[in-house]
Amino acid sequence: MNLLIIDDDIVDRMNTMRSLQKPGQAINVTEISSAEAGLALANQQPFDLLLLDYQLPTMTGLELLISLRSPPTNNTPVVMLSHTNDEELALKCIEHGAQDFIVKSEVTASRLMRAISHARERHKIESELRESREQLRYLAEVDSLTGLANRHMFERGLTRALPLAERQNSELALVMLDLDRFKDVNDTLGHGIGDALLKEVANRLTTAVREGDLLCRLGGDEFAILIHDLDNIELAERLTQRILRVLKQPLVIEGYEINISASMGIASYPDCATDAIQLMKCADVALYRSKDAGRNQSHFYSKALHEKIQKRVELEQELRGALGRDELVLYYQAQIDINSEAITGAEALIRWQHPTKGLIPPDKFIPIAEDIGLIVEIGDWVLECACRQLQKWRIEFNATDLNLSLSLNLSALQLGSHSFVENVESIMQKYNIPHQRLELELTESALSENTDVSTQLLEDLSKRGIKLAMDDFGTGYSSLLQLKNYPFQVLKIDKSFIHSISDNNSDETYLHAINAFAKTLGLQVVAEGVETAKQKALCQKLLFDRMQGYYFSRPVPATEFEKTYLISA
Ligand code: C2E
Ligand code: MG
Ligand code: MG
Repeated sequence: MNLLIIDDDIVDRMNTMRSLQKPGQAINVTEISSAEAGLALANQQPFDLLLLDYQLPTMTGLELLISLRSPPTNNTPVVMLSHTNDEELALKCIEHGAQDFIVKSEVTASRLMRAISHARERHKIESELRESREQLRYLAEVDSLTGLANRHMFERGLTRALPLAERQNSELALVMLDLDRFKDVNDTLGHGIGDALLKEVANRLTTAVREGDLLCRLGGDEFAILIHDLDNIELAERLTQRILRVLKQPLVIEGYEINISASMGIASYPDCATDAIQLMKCADVALYRSKDAGRNQSHFYSKALHEKIQKRVELEQELRGALGRDELVLYYQAQIDINSEAITGAEALIRWQHPTKGLIPPDKFIPIAEDIGLIVEIGDWVLECACRQLQKWRIEFNATDLNLSLSLNLSALQLGSHSFVENVESIMQKYNIPHQRLELELTESALSENTDVSTQLLEDLSKRGIKLAMDDFGTGYSSLLQLKNYPFQVLKIDKSFIHSISDNNSDETYLHAINAFAKTLGLQVVAEGVETAKQKALCQKLLFDRMQGYYFSRPVPATEFEKTYLISA
């Protein structure tokens, strides 16, 4: 054992030495007479224990103890030696990190050895306690995967930051960040790669934030950055731009090249909110906006934005229950033969009969259904409901003679799995609908957005005799390519073309060319949005195959459709 005695009194030192040097005790003792030299030596060289005299010429033993325990902290166990038996002083020394306190007059060999061994034992226990407390604190405040501050630490930081900003009359900004499509990485490449990706993202974010800003992982793929002392809101904007840039850099994990991006929302205090919870909500609203606007971007919070998002979230929630509450309805719009002007079929068009907001058109809720993953369920409902309706008409009104066919609109997301074909097949069988009576409409934009639509699946439908129609032809960018890649039989010219013909002759030439081109490919042509006699006449002159539009009928509920087209037939 290596001991250091710091005591200016030579007699006391001798006394202590004598008590320590008993036969059989392997103790190395170093003696120092001044506080400063003792402190320097203790910090320079490791000792197993320090014996400190309380009465030193330049400072008290307590002062020496305090210097010893303040950073850079020296943790060697300490036993204090004093001439006075002062209870209060003894307690003070223990409080400041001494392990024991003995009165010099009571020093005997056995008393001293017992004190030393107790002090070392106590010191060991104290160190272990300190370590486990530090570890607990670390666990409680640090995210174990990335090493960033965790949600707990973030919330504490945020609640402290607001009153501080108020006192200092400064602003702070909160950035909420959520990785785009992280779930896909986890699902397709596994959680191991997902975790490695999160670590790398944490590293990159660390390089993008300023020193002093609090970067945290809130959980999953959600991060937050608290920017203190914001002199200028552009600072937050610049930070998010930096983040977008660092995330864009190529990323390879275990040989997989992964493209990653993030959506962010920014809110500032006290501009946007009055408390921490509100501030988080505001940043969340702005984050939601970034996701909604196509991801890989950041937005600032504003009141107008909040109202808009609130409405959208409300609609989203209501839409989730709409099917169960039987609020969705199908309207039917007639399709008319170009020559005979007789009805050839109906396009089923969905509406949402909302209990308070009235009839909501599909453009307002189909994109939401696609976003929240509800479109497949809604599509199945449309398919079943329309086929059941057609069967009813075929039976009740002898519509088999009419050869009435049914057009349905599909979202590209419905074509994600091969079970779609089986589903269509089983519903058609259930309602006894011949394959050639069904036409499925897909927009070109839907096809270009979703590259996963399998040609195989569409081929499969087409081989069974189900017709595929390209809807809204002429509004997207890659119509021709898609006509070549997918087995379409019908082309529906978008209503914007039909509407422009009345005022522009050159459009007539275009329509003529489109018709000729479609016919060369063996496609039938349907004109959408025919509203006037003039437009109808032109469609007839151009020799399209079918027409559809307000001129003949608006989309109407099934009963009205029956009255107009079937009861009289
Ligand atoms: P779409 O398939 O191109 O349907 C034609 C749209 O044009 C319908 O709007 C129809 O009401 C409207 N329309 C018909 N004739 C005229 C006309 O003469 N003039 C004008 N200005 N408009 C006319 P709607 O019903 O609001 O549907 C909008 C879009 O919503 C549809 O466009 C279709 O893409 C989508 N949609 C409708 N039902 C469904 C569905 O069940 N599933 C899916 N995925 N999408 C649907
Ligand atoms: Mg359509
Ligand atoms: Mg259309």
